[in-house]
Amino acid sequence: MPKILISACLDGRPVRYDGQAKPLLDLRVEQWRGEGRLVSTCPELAGGFSTPRLPAEIENGMTGSDVLAGSAKVIDSAGADVTAAYMDGAQAALALARETGCAFALLIDGSPSCGSAKIHDGSFSGNKHAGAGVTAALLKQNGIAVFSHQELDALERALTGVRTDGR
Ligand code: SF4
Repeated sequence: MPKILISACLDGRPVRYDGQAKPLLDLRVEQWRGEGRLVSTCPELAGGFSTPRLPAEIENGMTGSDVLAGSAKVIDSAGADVTAAYMDGAQAALALARETGCAFALLIDGSPSCGSAKIHDGSFSGNKHAGAGVTAALLKQNGIAVFSHQELDALERALTGVRTDGR
């Protein structure tokens, strides 16, 4: 059965910057957990942060792909450059996905690490724009199918397709 890398905060762990979890309450997620398919990770903790921590955003309306390309930074709310830790966390998530055979990822949207459809614009004003966070972008670049927490139906269809094809 294909495994799914899941954001630890979606998996119910209180690892967010504010010390909270964001558990995704859905019967399909419960089923996948029961089947042993979920591989939980928090890229920001893997990158060396602790909880709680300052919020951070990718600067100037740029994206995780820009960070990976070296043309944008991740900045925390006090103005510190935390790009290196975000890069380390993304690499750790990719390594874990490869080690555990995750072809899919289910990541919470909006995060500078895990966001896959929308992320904050770097102004710390709540504004979001289209784009992926650093971890989501790296996973996508390496062939892992990334779904946000709002795309469970699509993930379910993708998993069904894998089963049907016998892969
Ligand atoms: S890095 Fe990802 S898993 Fe960790 S708290 Fe942020 S959104 Fe959740």
